[in-house]
Amino acid sequence: MATQRPKSFKFSQILLKWNKESNTRKMPWKGEKDPYKIWVSEIILQQTRVEQGLKYYENFIRAFPDIHALARTPDQKIYKLWEGLGYYTRCRNLIETARHISGDLSGNFPRDYDSLKRLRGIGPYTAAAISSFAFNERRAVVDGNVFRVIARIFAVDKPTDSAEGKKFFNHFANKLLDKEKPGLYNQALMDFGAVICKPIPICEQCPFNKSCKAFLNDRIFSFPVKSKKPLVQRRWLNYILMEYRGRFAIRQRIEKDIWHNLFEFLLVEADSELKETELLRKVKQKGWLQTNGFSVMAFSPIFRQQLSHQLIKGRFMKIKLSQKSKLPADVVWVNEKKMKDYAFPKFINQYLQNK
Ligand code: SF4
Repeated sequence: MATQRPKSFKFSQILLKWNKESNTRKMPWKGEKDPYKIWVSEIILQQTRVEQGLKYYENFIRAFPDIHALARTPDQKIYKLWEGLGYYTRCRNLIETARHISGDLSGNFPRDYDSLKRLRGIGPYTAAAISSFAFNERRAVVDGNVFRVIARIFAVDKPTDSAEGKKFFNHFANKLLDKEKPGLYNQALMDFGAVICKPIPICEQCPFNKSCKAFLNDRIFSFPVKSKKPLVQRRWLNYILMEYRGRFAIRQRIEKDIWHNLFEFLLVEADSELKETELLRKVKQKGWLQTNGFSVMAFSPIFRQQLSHQLIKGRFMKIKLSQKSKLPADVVWVNEKKMKDYAFPKFINQYLQNK
């Protein structure tokens, strides 16, 4: 299958014409030149839909109008604002990078792709977006949308999840890049992938429909090509809401795992579903209950949450203690009203909102 760029084909001209005449996609960070704001928007959007990310972006910029404001804010306050967005490693990296730029670099945001890529949490895509939008560096953004558009228009059958495929697409995307207006071009291509050449594309409105190989050969759903299916890990997380005199035992997740730095109740992880008696037995085995000084108050139905590579299922058991029991050293006892000050994963919040 041909994968060369046809010489007569003015890809960027067509794209920029579409952008000027037909692109009505509005986003608050479009045309933004402040690298700090571009960075915040790109990190929020890394694994989040625009509609959901919009509110978070606005709240973030309102709370932390510049990098120094973000850098000097305590972690928990930032995590609280991030709550619900998921993928908390992004937030941790955001905090670390803000403190590095604000302190070590005196607030001067790195300007070029290579320096940006050395910052924690900034990969090739985000570095290309910041350097091209804010500083007009000639760098093509390459993400899932760009893979899809290029693969379809040029009928590229290299798997986008292979090292060879990634290298090829990266090279190809940089050849297509408009060298005069790289920032405008990158934004236009991202918009085009989001509103026209979507997973289910609107080919009848597409300015490339006279040259798009996938469309002309009736193969739009054959591209992009992937070599492997992602593996989904299944986990059972059972949470114990241990209550003593109106206060609940919670702890911070500091392990290298999902929901890093967020708070949770006492956790009993299992390979499969646990019935109420089985779960209670495990809680006792852990030494969290002394003699008979407790009552099981509630045992929830199954809750679930699909993450990108993990399917989380689990239940919540509420246990009231009549005498304080011996719990892990990192547990803190928190009044029910104060719990809203702590950032919990969505999985726990959906239970708290429905209980
Ligand atoms: S013709 Fe259809 S498949 Fe081809 S680029 Fe346009 S929207 Fe995408």
